[in-house]
Amino acid sequence: MHIVHVTVEMAPIAKVGGLGDVVTSLSRAVQDLNHNVDVILPKYDCLNLSNVKDFQFNRSFSWGGTEVKVWHGKVEGLSVYFLEPHNGFFGRGCIYGCSNDGERFGFFCHSALEFLLQSGFHPDIIHCHDWSSAPVAWLYKDHYTHNVLSKARIVFTIHNLEFGAHLIGKAMTFSDMATTVSHTYSREVSGNPVIAPHLHKFYGILNGIDPDIWDPYNDKYIPVPYTSENVIEGKRAAKEALQQRLNLKKADLPLVGMITRLTHQKGIHLIKHAIVRALECSGQVVLLGSAPDPRIQNDFVNLANQFHSSHADRARLVLSYDEPLSHLIYAGADFILVPSIFEPCGLTQLTAMRYGSIPVVRKTGGLYDTVFDVDHDKERAQAQGLEPNGFNFDGADSAGVDYALNRAIAAWYDGRDWLNLLCKRVMEQDWSWNKPALDYLEIYHAARK
Ligand code: ADP
Repeated sequence: MHIVHVTVEMAPIAKVGGLGDVVTSLSRAVQDLNHNVDVILPKYDCLNLSNVKDFQFNRSFSWGGTEVKVWHGKVEGLSVYFLEPHNGFFGRGCIYGCSNDGERFGFFCHSALEFLLQSGFHPDIIHCHDWSSAPVAWLYKDHYTHNVLSKARIVFTIHNLEFGAHLIGKAMTFSDMATTVSHTYSREVSGNPVIAPHLHKFYGILNGIDPDIWDPYNDKYIPVPYTSENVIEGKRAAKEALQQRLNLKKADLPLVGMITRLTHQKGIHLIKHAIVRALECSGQVVLLGSAPDPRIQNDFVNLANQFHSSHADRARLVLSYDEPLSHLIYAGADFILVPSIFEPCGLTQLTAMRYGSIPVVRKTGGLYDTVFDVDHDKERAQAQGLEPNGFNFDGADSAGVDYALNRAIAAWYDGRDWLNLLCKRVMEQDWSWNKPALDYLEIYHAARK
């Protein structure tokens, strides 16, 4: 099959959150199963081209009175076409945040289809994502079903229904099949008016992580390569490097990490509370986060100053986007906390486990589907062929965070041998795309029936 993704994010060159990771890692998994995959992405000025191999001019075409240049290169082994309209429409913004994002991405979607048409591509599947490439679904049905593109079918994936629900609803109507990124999230949103009419073609498929991209045995950002065999030594070295890098006290203390966009979705009040609680439990805490909303960013800058003076050796809040540091935190933390209010899938808890860090999460969406509490979820885990792998909590107040974090940190102090075994266990669980990629192929086949 030939699958073309039309997307505005792609890790690692243009990533804001999980959508960017998923496009890259799902595509790689499907390509590994011997299918042909291309990605079409806007050519933003801010693209990190050092991660693009063989970047070169490919062709240009004209559409709607605008000349569009097409560049081609390889990203993580995937073929990527970059569209650059002569009017500089994509260049000015860095992914999101322009006042005319809707117009920019609408233009991108239409020019992506026009590029496929004018270049003589015959994809079987055009896969679009979230509100930003949702227009592909109806533009295709309006303009491209009577030409050489006509055999293509549209698959649409919702990574987060929070943004652009109106556009998402329209894409649901016009797509042949639709997915979202976990079973529990698909159930949680099934009553939403933009989803409810389309349940017959709507499926939850859990995201995976790419075990080659996230690999503690082969990670240039951590000091000692490790597998589950030497996880304890590997994580000890990473913790020391993290403490050194952030100027924290070099001591063996339970270290709680958080790596997150700082938005309402991620449970800002719970994140703040968790910092205090981890410190009260004699732990260290590292938050790596950035807030798109300047008011929230300022709020955290103040908080950082406060903690850096009251707990200079045990708390560090790094308020930026920093991919290399995220790797060191995944490796160096004992626990990764994800207290989201809602979470379509969540990748941080999966990456945490790949690095032998124990996830501590709120029971929602994909967090519920992937983290099984060591005290409460043995049966639920075993029904999935797994053993329990973390700590979780209900509710959206601080008592829930306390309940999970207290148990996690108590286990660190009183049950190190048991916790070390748990680190090994979580590393050995398979959260890759092996299974989800097959599920997507089923969806692609179903779309073509
Ligand atoms: P979302 O897409 O809602 O942001 P996910 O858990 O699906 O949440 O994906 C978040 C991804 O972004 C993960 O790969 C995480 O490591 C990364 N990430 C989030 N914030 C930062 C940050 N400040 N610096 C580096 N990476 C980050």
